[in-house]
Amino acid sequence: MTLESISVARKRSYPPRMSAFTQPFWDGLAQGKWQSTCCEACGKFTFPPKPICPHCWSDKMQWKSLSPRGTLYSWTRIHAAPKVFADEAPYAVCVVDLDIGLRIATRLVERDGIEFTCGIPVGLVVLQYQDGPLLASRPL
Ligand SMILES: [Zn+2]
Repeated sequence: MTLESISVARKRSYPPRMSAFTQPFWDGLAQGKWQSTCCEACGKFTFPPKPICPHCWSDKMQWKSLSPRGTLYSWTRIHAAPKVFADEAPYAVCVVDLDIGLRIATRLVERDGIEFTCGIPVGLVVLQYQDGPLLASRPL
């Protein structure tokens, strides 16, 4: 399943750090792929991607495509932003409980006037900035 992409006419205010290990995540996200690492020993997913399982310490990790669906656990709208994000304010951020068992934090994107309410279904989307992608959530 390919994530929907939303073009953003600017560069990322705070580009993510990338390493040789996380490069496959960023390369995939640029193509709309939502993937992270899964432990072969205990079967648990991790995000961000990790070379060692934080649950059982196994180093037998493999990349897997993940379901992008989840539930909005919490959200807020930031009006007084840190200096680096000041020209993007106000913007919404959230915590999402994904159906696959991960809890992640992302930007929260509007959809057709749907009111943000804890518990609503959300899906992940890709914000395609001029200098690369970022993950975000949006009501379904
Ligand atoms: Zn494990």
